[in-house]
Amino acid sequence: MSAMQRHNEVPAARLLTRVRQCTICAAHLPLGPRPVLQLHPAARILIAGQAPGRKVHDSGVPFDDASGDRLRHWLGLDRPTFYDARRVAILPMGFCYPGTGSSGDLPPRPECAPTWREPLLALLPARRLTIVIGAYALGYHLPSERSGVTSAVLNWREHWPALAVLPHPSGRNNIWLKRNAWFEAELVPVLRKRVAEVLARE
Ligand code: SF4
Repeated sequence: MSAMQRHNEVPAARLLTRVRQCTICAAHLPLGPRPVLQLHPAARILIAGQAPGRKVHDSGVPFDDASGDRLRHWLGLDRPTFYDARRVAILPMGFCYPGTGSSGDLPPRPECAPTWREPLLALLPARRLTIVIGAYALGYHLPSERSGVTSAVLNWREHWPALAVLPHPSGRNNIWLKRNAWFEAELVPVLRKRVAEVLARE
Protein backbone atom coordinates (compact mmCIF):
# COMPACT_ATOMS: atom_id res chain seq x y z
CA MET A 1 0.00 0.00 0.00
CA SER A 2 1.35 3.45 -0.91
CA ALA A 3 2.02 6.26 1.58
CA MET A 4 -0.97 8.14 0.17
CA GLN A 5 -3.25 5.15 0.70
CA ARG A 6 -2.00 4.76 4.28
CA HIS A 7 -2.55 8.50 4.79
CA ASN A 8 -6.16 8.08 3.63
CA GLU A 9 -7.03 5.22 5.98
CA VAL A 10 -8.16 7.36 8.93
CA PRO A 11 -10.19 9.85 6.83
CA ALA A 12 -11.81 6.89 5.06
CA ALA A 13 -12.79 5.24 8.33
CA ARG A 14 -14.22 8.53 9.61
CA LEU A 15 -16.16 9.17 6.41
CA LEU A 16 -17.55 5.63 6.36
CA THR A 17 -18.74 6.09 9.94
CA ARG A 18 -20.58 9.26 8.88
CA VAL A 19 -22.12 7.49 5.85
CA ARG A 20 -23.32 4.63 8.05
CA GLN A 21 -25.04 7.13 10.35
CA CYS A 22 -26.65 9.02 7.47
CA THR A 23 -30.39 9.67 7.64
CA ILE A 24 -30.64 12.40 4.97
CA CYS A 25 -33.41 10.76 2.95
CA ALA A 26 -34.81 8.52 5.68
CA ALA A 27 -38.32 9.89 5.11
CA HIS A 28 -38.29 8.40 1.59
CA LEU A 29 -36.89 4.96 2.44
CA PRO A 30 -39.59 2.34 3.06
CA LEU A 31 -37.31 0.24 5.27
CA GLY A 32 -35.25 3.10 6.69
CA PRO A 33 -31.56 3.88 6.18
CA ARG A 34 -29.13 1.00 5.86
CA PRO A 35 -26.19 2.10 3.70
CA VAL A 36 -24.58 -0.85 1.92
CA LEU A 37 -21.12 -0.07 0.53
CA GLN A 38 -17.52 -1.20 0.75
CA LEU A 39 -14.42 0.99 0.56
CA HIS A 40 -10.75 1.08 1.51
CA PRO A 41 -8.21 3.58 0.09
CA ALA A 42 -6.10 0.73 -1.32
CA ALA A 43 -8.88 -0.62 -3.59
CA ARG A 44 -7.82 -0.49 -7.26
CA ILE A 45 -11.17 -1.65 -8.58
CA LEU A 46 -14.30 0.43 -8.10
CA ILE A 47 -17.72 -1.05 -8.80
CA ALA A 48 -20.17 1.79 -9.34
CA GLY A 49 -23.61 0.22 -9.13
CA GLN A 50 -27.20 1.36 -8.74
CA ALA A 51 -28.77 0.77 -5.31
CA PRO A 52 -29.28 -2.21 -3.01
CA GLY A 53 -32.30 -4.42 -3.63
CA ARG A 54 -34.43 -5.85 -0.86
CA LYS A 55 -32.29 -8.97 -0.36
CA VAL A 56 -29.12 -6.90 -0.08
CA HIS A 57 -30.86 -4.53 2.33
CA ASP A 58 -31.68 -7.54 4.53
CA SER A 59 -28.17 -8.99 4.47
CA GLY A 60 -26.26 -5.69 4.46
CA VAL A 61 -23.81 -7.29 2.00
CA PRO A 62 -23.46 -5.66 -1.45
CA PHE A 63 -24.31 -7.86 -4.44
CA ASP A 64 -25.22 -10.73 -2.12
CA ASP A 65 -27.74 -11.99 -4.65
CA ALA A 66 -28.09 -13.55 -8.09
CA SER A 67 -26.95 -10.27 -9.72
CA GLY A 68 -23.80 -10.44 -7.64
CA ASP A 69 -23.16 -14.05 -8.67
CA ARG A 70 -23.38 -13.03 -12.32
CA LEU A 71 -21.20 -9.95 -11.78
CA ARG A 72 -18.50 -12.01 -10.01
CA HIS A 73 -18.64 -14.47 -12.91
CA TRP A 74 -18.15 -11.63 -15.42
CA LEU A 75 -15.22 -10.25 -13.42
CA GLY A 76 -13.65 -13.64 -12.73
CA LEU A 77 -13.64 -12.95 -8.99
CA ASP A 78 -14.42 -15.34 -6.16
CA ARG A 79 -16.38 -14.09 -3.16
CA PRO A 80 -13.35 -13.61 -0.83
CA THR A 81 -11.63 -11.36 -3.40
CA PHE A 82 -14.82 -9.51 -4.31
CA TYR A 83 -15.52 -8.77 -0.64
CA ASP A 84 -11.94 -7.73 0.17
CA ALA A 85 -12.38 -3.97 0.59
CA ARG A 86 -8.64 -3.46 0.10
CA ARG A 87 -9.05 -4.75 -3.44
CA VAL A 88 -12.60 -3.91 -4.50
CA ALA A 89 -14.59 -0.81 -3.58
CA ILE A 90 -18.36 -1.05 -4.06
CA LEU A 91 -20.18 2.27 -4.20
CA PRO A 92 -23.73 2.20 -5.56
CA MET A 93 -25.29 5.48 -6.66
CA GLY A 94 -27.66 5.22 -3.71
CA PHE A 95 -26.42 3.41 -0.62
CA CYS A 96 -29.83 2.48 0.84
CA TYR A 97 -32.67 0.36 -0.55
CA PRO A 98 -35.00 2.89 -2.22
CA GLY A 99 -38.13 0.69 -2.30
CA THR A 100 -40.00 -0.95 -5.14
CA GLY A 101 -42.41 0.52 -7.66
CA SER A 102 -44.73 -1.04 -10.23
CA SER A 103 -41.85 -1.91 -12.59
CA GLY A 104 -39.18 -3.00 -10.13
CA ASP A 105 -36.84 -1.26 -7.71
CA LEU A 106 -37.06 2.52 -7.58
CA PRO A 107 -34.10 4.66 -8.72
CA PRO A 108 -31.29 5.40 -6.27
CA ARG A 109 -32.22 8.27 -3.97
CA PRO A 110 -31.09 11.53 -5.63
CA GLU A 111 -29.70 12.92 -2.35
CA CYS A 112 -27.06 10.23 -1.99
CA ALA A 113 -24.50 10.75 -4.75
CA PRO A 114 -24.27 14.56 -4.42
CA THR A 115 -23.72 14.18 -0.68
CA TRP A 116 -21.24 11.34 -0.49
CA ARG A 117 -19.77 10.31 -3.80
CA GLU A 118 -17.13 12.96 -4.38
CA PRO A 119 -15.40 12.71 -0.97
CA LEU A 120 -15.49 8.89 -1.09
CA LEU A 121 -14.06 8.73 -4.63
CA ALA A 122 -11.31 11.16 -3.62
CA LEU A 123 -10.01 8.52 -1.18
CA LEU A 124 -9.46 5.89 -3.88
CA PRO A 125 -6.32 5.56 -6.04
CA ALA A 126 -6.48 7.73 -9.17
CA ARG A 127 -5.14 4.84 -11.22
CA ARG A 128 -7.98 2.40 -10.81
CA LEU A 129 -10.38 0.38 -12.89
CA THR A 130 -13.92 1.75 -12.59
CA ILE A 131 -16.71 -0.63 -13.49
CA VAL A 132 -19.87 1.29 -14.26
CA ILE A 133 -23.08 -0.68 -13.95
CA GLY A 134 -26.35 0.61 -15.31
CA ALA A 135 -27.76 3.96 -16.37
CA TYR A 136 -27.49 5.90 -13.09
CA ALA A 137 -23.80 5.15 -12.59
CA LEU A 138 -23.23 5.87 -16.28
CA GLY A 139 -24.85 9.30 -15.92
CA TYR A 140 -22.52 10.16 -13.04
CA HIS A 141 -19.22 8.65 -14.17
CA LEU A 142 -19.58 9.36 -17.90
CA PRO A 143 -21.94 12.35 -18.16
CA SER A 144 -20.92 12.93 -21.78
CA GLU A 145 -22.16 9.45 -22.74
CA ARG A 146 -25.77 10.37 -23.50
CA SER A 147 -26.76 7.52 -25.80
CA GLY A 148 -27.54 5.04 -23.03
CA VAL A 149 -26.06 1.88 -21.57
CA THR A 150 -26.26 -0.30 -24.70
CA SER A 151 -24.35 2.24 -26.76
CA ALA A 152 -21.77 2.75 -23.99
CA VAL A 153 -21.23 -1.02 -23.66
CA LEU A 154 -20.93 -1.36 -27.44
CA ASN A 155 -18.35 1.43 -27.49
CA TRP A 156 -16.42 0.00 -24.52
CA ARG A 157 -13.04 0.57 -26.18
CA GLU A 158 -13.50 4.37 -25.92
CA HIS A 159 -12.98 4.37 -22.17
CA TRP A 160 -10.77 1.33 -21.87
CA PRO A 161 -8.66 0.46 -19.88
CA ALA A 162 -9.59 2.90 -17.08
CA LEU A 163 -13.31 2.29 -17.22
CA ALA A 164 -15.71 -0.44 -18.30
CA VAL A 165 -19.46 0.04 -18.74
CA LEU A 166 -21.53 -3.08 -18.09
CA PRO A 167 -25.24 -3.81 -18.33
CA HIS A 168 -26.84 -4.46 -14.96
CA PRO A 169 -26.24 -8.16 -14.14
CA SER A 170 -29.85 -8.56 -12.99
CA GLY A 171 -31.95 -11.39 -14.42
CA ARG A 172 -34.17 -8.63 -15.82
CA ASN A 173 -31.43 -8.13 -18.43
CA ASN A 174 -31.48 -11.73 -19.69
CA ILE A 175 -33.14 -10.66 -22.92
CA TRP A 176 -30.50 -7.94 -23.44
CA LEU A 177 -27.75 -10.50 -22.85
CA LYS A 178 -29.34 -12.90 -25.30
CA ARG A 179 -29.61 -10.20 -27.94
CA ASN A 180 -26.04 -9.06 -27.30
CA ALA A 181 -24.27 -12.40 -27.05
CA TRP A 182 -21.00 -10.68 -28.12
CA PHE A 183 -20.88 -9.09 -24.66
CA GLU A 184 -20.18 -12.37 -22.84
CA ALA A 185 -18.21 -13.83 -25.75
CA GLU A 186 -15.92 -10.84 -26.41
CA LEU A 187 -15.96 -8.24 -23.66
CA VAL A 188 -16.19 -10.48 -20.59
CA PRO A 189 -12.92 -12.37 -21.32
CA VAL A 190 -11.08 -9.06 -21.86
CA LEU A 191 -12.60 -7.65 -18.70
CA ARG A 192 -11.54 -10.66 -16.65
CA LYS A 193 -7.98 -10.31 -17.91
CA ARG A 194 -7.94 -6.61 -17.03
CA VAL A 195 -9.34 -7.25 -13.52
CA ALA A 196 -6.64 -9.88 -12.91
CA GLU A 197 -3.93 -7.46 -14.13
CA VAL A 198 -5.15 -4.64 -11.88
CA LEU A 199 -5.27 -6.91 -8.82
CA ALA A 200 -1.80 -8.28 -9.61
CA ARG A 201 -0.41 -4.71 -9.47
CA GLU A 202 -0.87 -4.56 -5.68
S1 SF4 B 1 -29.56 6.66 0.57
FE1 SF4 B 1 -27.68 7.84 0.93
S2 SF4 B 1 -28.41 9.92 1.47
FE2 SF4 B 1 -30.14 8.50 1.77
S3 SF4 B 1 -30.03 7.87 3.93
FE3 SF4 B 1 -28.93 6.31 2.71
S4 SF4 B 1 -26.78 7.00 2.81
FE4 SF4 B 1 -28.06 8.77 3.38
